[in-house]
Amino acid sequence: MKLNIPENIAEIIPYPPGKPLEELEREYGISNSIKLASNENPWGPSPKAVAAIEKSLQGLHRYPDGSSFYLTEALARWLGAGMDEIVLGNGSNEVIEFLVKTFVRPGDEVITSHPSFLMYQKFVQVRGGRNTVLPLKDMQHDLEAILNTVSEQTRLIFLDNPNNPCGTFFSTKRFDDFLQRLPESVILVLDEAYADFVEQKLRIDILSYIRKSEGIPAVVGLRTFSKAFGLAGLRIGFGLMHRDIADLLHRVRQPFNINLPAQIGALAALSDSDHYNSTLNKTRSGRQWLSEQVRQLGCKPYPSHTNFFLIDVCGDATRLFESMLHKGVIVRSMKAYGYPDFIRITVGTEAENTRFVKSLAESLNELSYV
Ligand SMILES: *Cc1c(COP(=O)(O)O)cnc(C)c1O
Repeated sequence: MKLNIPENIAEIIPYPPGKPLEELEREYGISNSIKLASNENPWGPSPKAVAAIEKSLQGLHRYPDGSSFYLTEALARWLGAGMDEIVLGNGSNEVIEFLVKTFVRPGDEVITSHPSFLMYQKFVQVRGGRNTVLPLKDMQHDLEAILNTVSEQTRLIFLDNPNNPCGTFFSTKRFDDFLQRLPESVILVLDEAYADFVEQKLRIDILSYIRKSEGIPAVVGLRTFSKAFGLAGLRIGFGLMHRDIADLLHRVRQPFNINLPAQIGALAALSDSDHYNSTLNKTRSGRQWLSEQVRQLGCKPYPSHTNFFLIDVCGDATRLFESMLHKGVIVRSMKAYGYPDFIRITVGTEAENTRFVKSLAESLNELSYV
């Protein structure tokens, strides 16, 4: 065989998948390890979703509804949106891919921040687009630098708000000011994967911007069932956008991109407000408790609007990560993200949080960090 590999594909670095728990336990000879590294819902999926999916399995011989009618209808009601303003994806990741496929030609520019979610840049590379990556400033998107960089060739701007990994969030006022100064020809994508965790009164009213559309650029909001709804394994997310953009994305997507269990499970999860609200409440109190404990150990926790937060451990984060791994606690080192002394942790259950604090104390002690 003789492969003729396009340069833009050869340049792509494979996404580093987290070590599966089973593999870690086998290698290190430990058991009952916990993973606080991927911002998942530690309390599991909604039991209503699980029950609905179980019931749906007898229908797996049929193709699913290509329009995901009932889920789209329920989402429209939940959000106060029109059904034609919603595009579902196999994870919100797929909606990112649709946007890039639809709007980026080879050579077109896409602006993102670093550190931020890695998938935006990857899809742009696949399309042969040009990534312009601007550093965060004080752990926030540097909106001023983006305004100075944006050009005729800029098709899309991706901003995760709240930002992953920093957990920071920009206000409606800053967003509004930014939007007014952007050229109308770009599409501004706000990845709101963690919007559920943000206090209601602080959230940006995406729909009002989508519907304004005169004199401002198009705005797209991305949401997911992977975090607050606890359905990361199901792969379901969606975008909110102007109906003209939604129409284009529907042309690009596969007819059956949302599988049957995903349609059924997400619909049931959406109706389970007990599970959703209790997740938000437990996340908030868990984050507060963890921050306080971490502070008492001499580390510096950073404020966050999400189910994760950064901790300055006052020493090499990767060595700390390794040390905690041996105790069966998986966190994320931020070294590769440009914060060599920081780890990122996801809020876990009470038992997981307690275990984390105990292991952190031991590791800090062993490494003489504090
Ligand atoms: C977790 C996460 C997502 C979710 O992606 P899905 O494909 O919906 O699972 C999107 N954006 C950011 C910033 C995330 O952290």
